Amino acid sequence: MGEPNGMLTIEKTDGRRKCPSCSEENHYMIHESTDKSNIINDYPRVYGKKYRCGRCGVEWREK
Ligand SMILES: [Zn+2]
Repeated sequence: MGEPNGMLTIEKTDGRRKCPSCSEENHYMIHESTDKSNIINDYPRVYGKKYRCGRCGVEWREK
């Protein structure tokens, strides 16, 4: 939380992934993509994932 770009970071949950803003749970509404600003490993290059809610438009990462 509190990052300059406004992207949220939430704890990974064991259960169903849902939007931290509007609580949308439908996985068709939650779009997963590669977060090129979040490099997890340099070699081989591995990027983190980010998620975007198709209902409210919020973006977030999971720890
Ligand atoms: Zn949402």
